[in-house]
Formats: sequence, structure tokens, C-alpha cells
Amino acid sequence: MSSTQKVNLLGLTRSKMEQFFADIGEKPFRAKQVMQWVHQFGVSDFDQMTNISKALRAKLADIAEVRVPEVTYQDISTDGTRKWVMKMDGGSSIETVLIPDGNRGTLCISSQIGCALDCSFCSTGKQGFNRNLSAAEIVGQIWVAVKSFEDIDPDKDRPVTNVVMMGMGEPLLNFDNVIDSMNLMMDDFAYSISKRRLTLSTAGVVPAIKKLTGLTDASIAISLHAPNDELRNELVPVNKKYPISELLEATKGYLDSLSDKRKATIEYTLIEGVNDSQELAHQLVNLLDGFPCKVNLIPFNPFPQSDYKKPSGNAVHRFQDILIAGGFVTTIRSTRGDDIDAACGQLVGNVADRTRRSAKYIPLKEE
Ligand code: SF4
Repeated sequence: MSSTQKVNLLGLTRSKMEQFFADIGEKPFRAKQVMQWVHQFGVSDFDQMTNISKALRAKLADIAEVRVPEVTYQDISTDGTRKWVMKMDGGSSIETVLIPDGNRGTLCISSQIGCALDCSFCSTGKQGFNRNLSAAEIVGQIWVAVKSFEDIDPDKDRPVTNVVMMGMGEPLLNFDNVIDSMNLMMDDFAYSISKRRLTLSTAGVVPAIKKLTGLTDASIAISLHAPNDELRNELVPVNKKYPISELLEATKGYLDSLSDKRKATIEYTLIEGVNDSQELAHQLVNLLDGFPCKVNLIPFNPFPQSDYKKPSGNAVHRFQDILIAGGFVTTIRSTRGDDIDAACGQLVGNVADRTRRSAKYIPLKEE
């Protein structure tokens, strides 16, 4: 049987893994054992799964595999931010970034290769859309990130505590695979990411937000970037289809469906002279009045194909002050990983260029 016909166990949720074992005449508890080996111990070779009989290991090797993304490039910033470029089936690459901060490690995961939504300030959008990632390719990103920390004790060490679906792509346009991979990340036999620390970020695919209820309990972030439809139509074109009022209503519906009381995160990229005025900050306060949310301001990171500019520090703080005075918890996302092009909006997959420029290339283990 060729490798492509084998079932890749990396992307199977617990129920799908149990079904897989039932289908081959094995007991369901095998699912938990294999999940722990794969996700908690980073093992991809069935022969190393020592609490499974030799006969079953041989059977698994025949019909299944644990195929992880191929890391073609990795780098660590002076501030500890780690970035990986991973080659997916078909040859295209995606990027994944881990941002450590004290006891916290936040992993920014991609859900698609490229993106069809073409937000005007986003370098990924400029690439166009290539394809959806499979659940295995999405989960593979956290597998690679955890594995990069050698000799960790899964009971004590948690290099990845938070996950944001904010890398390349619009997660809700890859609905089933994103739901499966998020549920797998939260599973206690996999990565045990807390529902409050796993955030799905969407540009506003309203029908898909409505479909989320009952399928996941993850937190939600909205890439808003403008307080009125006219400006948002320009920055986030999907707004022409699903305007702000519908987006906020659908998000409120999802928040109401969660198992505990939680707020949405409103992401707002500040671009000089475009959406960073005090007037727009006041408009945003009015728009979000009564909506359960906190606001995260992201100073725009310039990239070559864009004419937009980074806002001044003063403009960012004035904008923040107005939101705080309006009663909103408002943070400014600090730029991390600048020296390795891992900052927000810089994930474009131009690997050859980066490899030349990097001062701190870390050879992959296989090399
Ligand atoms: S900001 Fe997000 S949704 Fe918009 S083009 Fe970029 S990746 Fe796609």
C-alpha cells in the first residue's frame, strides 16, 4: 500500500480515532494510547509505541501513518519567537509562529495555503488562494512546535499554552478541518489547550459563525479593522457580503452558546491615515457599546506590496485611550519576531528570500 493511501492518524479526532480502531477490530482504548504517543510524546513511528503489541504495531504500519509536515526552515528571533516554514503536500509552504511570553506560549496557526478574502492590508491575501489544509496539516503545526522543545515532560512542560487560528487563511472557509483540528487540540489525550486559550479568528463569514454553535467551545476573535461598513468594505471586502451588523449579531449568538461567559476579541489593525483617527475611535466605541468584547489594536506592519504605513505611536495610544475611556479593555499587540519576519501580516512564505537574509538559521535535526 503506498504512503498516500494510508490513513494519517495525526488529524483524527478522538471519535474518529476510536472509529478507526473499531473498523480494524481493535478496542477503543487503543485510540487514547496512540493519541498520547503521537501528540504528547511526539512519536511518529509505530515501533516506538511500546505499550502496543508488536502485532498491532505491524498492522498499523501497514495501513496507517503519522505523517507530519516537512519543516523546510526554522528560525528563532532574539526575543524568543520561533517561526517555521512547513512544506505541505503539493509543494506549497505555510508559516507557523510561536510567541513565548513568561509562562505562556502562543502559537499562531495557519488554516489555508493563501487566502481568498484579499483584505487590503494583508500580505497573505496578496498571494491569492491555493487550497485548504487538512486537519492533519493544521494539527501538524502544533506537533512541530511542541516537538521543537527537546526533552520536555508533557506532565510539566507546556511550550504551547495558547493557540490562535490567525495565521494564513480564513479558518471558517475550511470549516470541517478547522473544527476537527481545534477539538483535537483541546483534547486531554492530545494538547489539552483550554477552550479559553484557543481562539478562532475570522474576517466575518457570517453563515459559518452561525454553524459553529454546538460544534466547538473555542473562543472567537473578529478581524474588524473598521467601525463602519463603508471603510470596512474597502479593507475587508467580505464585508460587502456580510456587513458589520450581521457579523456582530452572529458573533453574539455564538458567545451565548458557549459553556461559560466569554467575550469576543475585536482585532483592529491600525493603518496610518486610513483607520487610526480619533473620530473613528469614537465611532468604534459607539458601535461596540453593549457588545461583550475586548479590543486588540495591531499597529500595521508594512510589507513590500503595500502602500499602507505604520501608524505613529501617538496615534496608537490616542486610539487606545478613547476605547479605554469608552469602557473597553484595550491592548496593543506588541510586535514580536520582527527580525525573522514573524510579525503579524508578514507571513507570506517567501522562503528563499528569508533563508538568505537570516542571521540565525538553525539547521534542522535531520541535517
Ligand atoms: S487578513 Fe486573514 S482573511 Fe484577510 S486576506 Fe489576510 S489571511 Fe485572509
